Amino acid sequence: MPWAASVLTLYPEMFPGPLGISLAGRALGDGLWSLEARNIRDFATDKHRSVDDTPAGGGAGMVLRPDVLAAAIDSVADAKDPRRPILAMTPRGKPLTQPRVRELASGEGVVLLCGRFEGFDERIFEARPVEPVSIGDYVVSGGEVAAMVVLDACVRLLPGVMGAASSGEEESFNEGLLEYPQYTRPVTWEGRTIPEVLRSGDHARIAAWRHERALEDTRLWRPDLIERHRGGSQAPPSGARHEDESEIK
Ligand code: SAH
Repeated sequence: MPWAASVLTLYPEMFPGPLGISLAGRALGDGLWSLEARNIRDFATDKHRSVDDTPAGGGAGMVLRPDVLAAAIDSVADAKDPRRPILAMTPRGKPLTQPRVRELASGEGVVLLCGRFEGFDERIFEARPVEPVSIGDYVVSGGEVAAMVVLDACVRLLPGVMGAASSGEEESFNEGLLEYPQYTRPVTWEGRTIPEVLRSGDHARIAAWRHERALEDTRLWRPDLIERHRGGSQAPPSGARHEDESEIK
Protein backbone atom coordinates (compact mmCIF):
# COMPACT_ATOMS: atom_id res chain seq x y z
CA MET A 1 0.00 0.00 0.00
CA PRO A 2 1.47 3.37 -0.96
CA TRP A 3 1.51 6.25 1.52
CA ALA A 4 -2.08 7.56 1.45
CA ALA A 5 -3.24 11.14 1.85
CA SER A 6 -6.88 12.10 2.26
CA VAL A 7 -7.76 15.78 2.29
CA LEU A 8 -11.09 17.07 3.60
CA THR A 9 -11.74 20.46 2.07
CA LEU A 10 -14.40 22.80 0.73
CA TYR A 11 -12.24 23.21 -2.39
CA PRO A 12 -11.26 19.72 -3.62
CA GLU A 13 -10.54 21.21 -7.05
CA MET A 14 -7.42 22.82 -5.56
CA PHE A 15 -5.79 19.35 -5.44
CA PRO A 16 -3.35 18.04 -6.54
CA GLY A 17 -2.46 21.57 -7.72
CA PRO A 18 1.24 22.15 -7.11
CA LEU A 19 1.55 18.60 -5.77
CA GLY A 20 0.84 17.36 -9.30
CA ILE A 21 4.14 18.62 -10.73
CA SER A 22 7.86 18.05 -10.23
CA LEU A 23 9.02 15.70 -7.46
CA ALA A 24 5.64 15.14 -5.76
CA GLY A 25 3.76 14.94 -9.06
CA ARG A 26 6.12 12.39 -10.53
CA ALA A 27 5.89 10.31 -7.36
CA LEU A 28 2.08 10.53 -7.50
CA GLY A 29 2.14 9.35 -11.13
CA ASP A 30 4.51 6.52 -10.18
CA GLY A 31 2.16 5.35 -7.42
CA LEU A 32 4.61 6.08 -4.58
CA TRP A 33 1.78 7.87 -2.79
CA SER A 34 -1.94 8.41 -3.31
CA LEU A 35 -4.11 11.49 -2.88
CA GLU A 36 -7.86 11.90 -2.59
CA ALA A 37 -9.65 15.15 -1.87
CA ARG A 38 -13.17 14.95 -0.43
CA ASN A 39 -15.60 17.81 -0.33
CA ILE A 40 -16.72 18.61 3.22
CA ARG A 41 -19.93 19.98 1.73
CA ASP A 42 -20.91 16.45 0.67
CA PHE A 43 -21.40 15.71 4.38
CA ALA A 44 -23.82 18.54 5.07
CA THR A 45 -27.22 17.28 6.16
CA ASP A 46 -29.64 20.17 5.74
CA LYS A 47 -31.30 21.14 2.50
CA HIS A 48 -29.07 24.20 2.04
CA ARG A 49 -25.97 22.00 2.38
CA SER A 50 -24.61 24.42 4.98
CA VAL A 51 -21.22 23.66 6.47
CA ASP A 52 -20.81 26.69 8.74
CA ASP A 53 -22.67 28.99 11.08
CA THR A 54 -22.11 32.19 13.05
CA PRO A 55 -19.71 32.14 16.03
CA ALA A 56 -21.22 31.50 19.44
CA GLY A 57 -20.65 34.56 21.59
CA GLY A 58 -20.60 36.85 18.58
CA GLY A 59 -17.83 38.16 16.37
CA ALA A 60 -16.97 38.23 12.71
CA GLY A 61 -17.03 35.39 10.22
CA MET A 62 -18.32 31.85 10.20
CA VAL A 63 -17.30 28.65 11.99
CA LEU A 64 -17.26 25.14 10.50
CA ARG A 65 -19.92 22.93 12.10
CA PRO A 66 -18.72 19.96 14.16
CA ASP A 67 -21.41 17.54 12.93
CA VAL A 68 -20.44 18.10 9.30
CA LEU A 69 -16.70 17.86 10.08
CA ALA A 70 -17.24 14.62 12.04
CA ALA A 71 -19.19 13.05 9.18
CA ALA A 72 -16.39 13.96 6.77
CA ILE A 73 -13.74 12.52 9.11
CA ASP A 74 -15.74 9.34 9.72
CA SER A 75 -16.01 8.79 5.98
CA VAL A 76 -12.22 8.33 5.65
CA ALA A 77 -11.02 7.20 9.05
CA ASP A 78 -12.07 4.73 11.67
CA ALA A 79 -12.25 7.39 14.36
CA LYS A 80 -11.72 4.90 17.20
CA ASP A 81 -8.62 3.40 15.66
CA PRO A 82 -7.27 5.71 12.99
CA ARG A 83 -4.43 4.02 11.11
CA ARG A 84 -3.48 7.40 9.79
CA PRO A 85 -3.15 10.48 12.02
CA ILE A 86 -5.87 13.08 11.50
CA LEU A 87 -4.38 16.57 11.35
CA ALA A 88 -6.46 19.75 11.37
CA MET A 89 -4.78 22.73 9.74
CA THR A 90 -5.01 25.68 12.12
CA PRO A 91 -2.79 28.55 13.28
CA ARG A 92 -3.88 27.54 16.80
CA GLY A 93 -2.07 24.20 16.44
CA LYS A 94 1.34 22.81 17.28
CA PRO A 95 3.89 24.09 14.77
CA LEU A 96 4.98 21.44 12.27
CA THR A 97 8.65 20.42 12.55
CA GLN A 98 10.96 18.29 10.45
CA PRO A 99 11.06 15.48 13.09
CA ARG A 100 7.24 15.33 13.00
CA VAL A 101 7.34 15.33 9.19
CA ARG A 102 9.75 12.37 9.31
CA GLU A 103 7.37 10.53 11.65
CA LEU A 104 4.40 11.19 9.39
CA ALA A 105 6.33 10.12 6.30
CA SER A 106 7.32 6.83 7.94
CA GLY A 107 3.68 5.99 8.73
CA GLU A 108 0.84 4.86 6.48
CA GLY A 109 -0.31 8.33 5.47
CA VAL A 110 -2.39 11.22 6.82
CA VAL A 111 -5.90 12.63 6.88
CA LEU A 112 -5.83 16.43 6.62
CA LEU A 113 -8.72 18.65 7.59
CA CYS A 114 -8.70 22.08 5.92
CA GLY A 115 -10.38 25.02 7.57
CA ARG A 116 -11.90 28.13 6.01
CA PHE A 117 -13.48 31.26 7.46
CA GLU A 118 -12.86 31.41 11.24
CA GLY A 119 -11.92 27.76 11.48
CA PHE A 120 -13.36 24.74 13.30
CA ASP A 121 -15.88 24.32 16.10
CA GLU A 122 -13.57 23.40 19.00
CA ARG A 123 -15.59 20.30 19.95
CA ILE A 124 -14.22 18.40 16.95
CA PHE A 125 -10.87 18.18 18.81
CA GLU A 126 -12.60 16.49 21.76
CA ALA A 127 -14.93 14.22 19.84
CA ARG A 128 -12.39 12.83 17.34
CA PRO A 129 -8.65 12.13 17.66
CA VAL A 130 -7.76 15.24 15.72
CA GLU A 131 -4.37 16.89 16.15
CA PRO A 132 -4.19 20.66 15.53
CA VAL A 133 -1.20 21.49 13.33
CA SER A 134 0.14 24.90 12.29
CA ILE A 135 2.53 25.66 9.44
CA GLY A 136 3.85 28.77 11.17
CA ASP A 137 3.03 31.90 13.10
CA TYR A 138 1.03 33.71 10.45
CA VAL A 139 -2.47 33.33 9.05
CA VAL A 140 -3.32 32.15 5.54
CA SER A 141 -6.85 32.24 4.20
CA GLY A 142 -7.50 28.51 4.06
CA GLY A 143 -6.21 25.15 5.19
CA GLU A 144 -5.58 23.95 1.63
CA VAL A 145 -2.20 25.64 1.16
CA ALA A 146 -1.25 24.50 4.67
CA ALA A 147 -2.21 20.91 3.76
CA MET A 148 -0.09 21.19 0.62
CA VAL A 149 2.87 22.24 2.75
CA VAL A 150 2.41 19.21 5.03
CA LEU A 151 2.01 16.82 2.09
CA ASP A 152 4.96 18.22 0.14
CA ALA A 153 7.23 17.97 3.18
CA CYS A 154 6.21 14.33 3.77
CA VAL A 155 6.15 13.10 0.19
CA ARG A 156 9.70 14.20 -0.62
CA LEU A 157 10.91 11.91 2.19
CA LEU A 158 9.08 8.81 0.96
CA PRO A 159 11.38 6.04 -0.30
CA GLY A 160 12.17 6.49 -3.99
CA VAL A 161 10.90 10.07 -4.29
CA MET A 162 14.21 11.92 -4.05
CA GLY A 163 17.31 10.64 -5.76
CA ALA A 164 19.53 8.49 -3.54
CA ALA A 165 22.34 11.07 -3.54
CA SER A 166 20.15 13.81 -2.08
CA SER A 167 18.32 11.79 0.52
CA GLY A 168 17.90 14.87 2.63
CA GLU A 169 20.31 13.73 5.31
CA GLU A 170 22.22 16.99 5.48
CA GLU A 171 19.26 19.31 5.21
CA SER A 172 18.14 22.18 7.36
CA PHE A 173 16.72 21.08 10.74
CA ASN A 174 18.10 17.55 10.60
CA GLU A 175 20.77 18.34 13.16
CA GLY A 176 18.63 21.02 14.73
CA LEU A 177 20.48 23.63 12.66
CA LEU A 178 19.94 25.43 9.39
CA GLU A 179 21.83 24.03 6.43
CA TYR A 180 25.18 25.56 5.45
CA PRO A 181 25.15 28.04 2.52
CA GLN A 182 25.42 26.66 -1.01
CA TYR A 183 27.25 27.94 -4.08
CA THR A 184 27.57 26.92 -7.71
CA ARG A 185 29.16 28.19 -10.93
CA PRO A 186 30.20 30.71 -12.06
CA VAL A 187 33.13 30.70 -9.65
CA THR A 188 33.28 34.50 -9.79
CA TRP A 189 30.06 36.44 -10.27
CA GLU A 190 29.73 40.22 -9.97
CA GLY A 191 33.12 40.27 -8.29
CA ARG A 192 32.13 37.70 -5.65
CA THR A 193 34.07 34.45 -5.54
CA ILE A 194 32.97 31.13 -4.06
CA PRO A 195 34.81 30.59 -0.74
CA GLU A 196 38.21 29.05 -1.41
CA VAL A 197 37.65 26.13 0.97
CA LEU A 198 34.77 24.82 -1.17
CA ARG A 199 37.11 24.67 -4.17
CA SER A 200 39.95 23.00 -2.23
CA GLY A 201 38.80 19.39 -2.66
CA ASP A 202 39.71 18.85 1.02
CA HIS A 203 36.60 17.09 2.29
CA ALA A 204 37.49 17.34 5.96
CA ARG A 205 38.07 21.10 5.73
CA ILE A 206 34.88 21.53 3.72
CA ALA A 207 32.87 19.59 6.30
CA ALA A 208 34.34 21.66 9.14
CA TRP A 209 33.64 24.93 7.29
CA ARG A 210 30.07 23.88 6.57
CA HIS A 211 29.43 22.97 10.18
CA GLU A 212 30.84 26.33 11.31
CA ARG A 213 28.69 28.24 8.83
CA ALA A 214 25.60 26.21 9.77
CA LEU A 215 26.13 27.23 13.39
CA GLU A 216 26.85 30.85 12.50
CA ASP A 217 23.79 31.29 10.28
CA THR A 218 21.56 29.51 12.76
CA ARG A 219 22.80 31.88 15.49
CA LEU A 220 22.02 34.80 13.21
CA TRP A 221 18.61 33.81 11.86
CA ARG A 222 17.28 31.25 14.32
CA PRO A 223 18.76 31.74 17.80
CA ASP A 224 15.77 29.78 19.11
CA LEU A 225 17.12 26.66 17.35
CA ILE A 226 20.55 27.09 18.97
CA GLU A 227 18.96 26.99 22.40
CA ARG A 228 17.34 23.67 21.53
CA HIS A 229 20.48 22.31 19.84
CA ARG A 230 22.34 20.75 22.73
CA GLY A 231 24.25 17.53 23.13
CA GLY A 232 24.39 15.34 20.02
CA SER A 233 27.43 15.12 17.85
CA GLN A 234 29.68 18.14 17.80
CA ALA A 235 31.64 16.52 15.00
CA PRO A 236 31.28 18.16 11.61
CA PRO A 237 28.93 16.37 9.23
CA SER A 238 30.52 13.94 6.81
CA GLY A 239 31.41 15.34 3.42
CA ALA A 240 31.05 11.89 1.86
CA ARG A 241 27.92 12.78 -0.06
CA HIS A 242 29.89 15.10 -2.32
CA GLU A 243 32.81 12.81 -3.03
CA ASP A 244 31.58 11.37 -6.28
CA GLU A 245 30.16 14.62 -7.61
CA SER A 246 32.14 16.84 -9.93
CA GLU A 247 33.99 19.34 -7.84
CA ILE A 248 34.13 23.04 -8.50
CA LYS A 249 37.79 23.99 -8.59
N1 SAH B 1 -9.46 33.02 12.75
C1 SAH B 1 -8.52 31.95 12.74
C2 SAH B 1 -7.81 31.83 11.38
C3 SAH B 1 -8.67 31.32 10.28
S1 SAH B 1 -7.80 31.25 8.76
C4 SAH B 1 -7.48 32.18 13.85
O1 SAH B 1 -7.18 33.32 14.12
O2 SAH B 1 -6.95 31.20 14.40
C5 SAH B 1 -8.75 30.05 7.90
C6 SAH B 1 -8.16 28.66 7.83
O3 SAH B 1 -6.88 28.73 7.22
C7 SAH B 1 -7.93 27.99 9.16
O4 SAH B 1 -9.09 27.33 9.63
C8 SAH B 1 -6.84 26.99 8.83
O5 SAH B 1 -7.37 25.79 8.28
C9 SAH B 1 -6.05 27.71 7.75
N2 SAH B 1 -4.83 28.34 8.30
C10 SAH B 1 -4.56 29.65 8.41
N3 SAH B 1 -3.35 29.88 8.93
C11 SAH B 1 -2.80 28.66 9.16
C12 SAH B 1 -1.56 28.21 9.72
N4 SAH B 1 -0.64 29.07 10.13
N5 SAH B 1 -1.34 26.89 9.82
C13 SAH B 1 -2.29 25.99 9.40
N6 SAH B 1 -3.48 26.35 8.88
C14 SAH B 1 -3.74 27.67 8.76
